[in-house]
Amino acid sequence: MLHTKICSECERLLYNAVVAMREHEKDFKSAVDFNVSGGMTEEDRQSLGPRLADSFTTAQAWWDAYREHLIGHGLLTPASKVIRMASTE
Ligand SMILES: [Zn+2]
Repeated sequence: MLHTKICSECERLLYNAVVAMREHEKDFKSAVDFNVSGGMTEEDRQSLGPRLADSFTTAQAWWDAYREHLIGHGLLTPASKVIRMASTE
């Protein structure tokens, strides 16, 4: 019988990465909307830039935690881009 090596922590880390990516997407969309409308003030720019960087960094950190967890399961290797879907172990 084949089993995929995933657990509730995999699910939690992926969920947090998804939520963080959505937050970053929201900040990114705000920047795009400002560009389209041409209504960005200097104050908007000064607050949006750090917010975009923060949400990007948070999303990257959750994604890295998820990746490290999968490496811990043996589903990924640090240098690998390939996911091992199942194991006979
Ligand atoms: Zn897991």
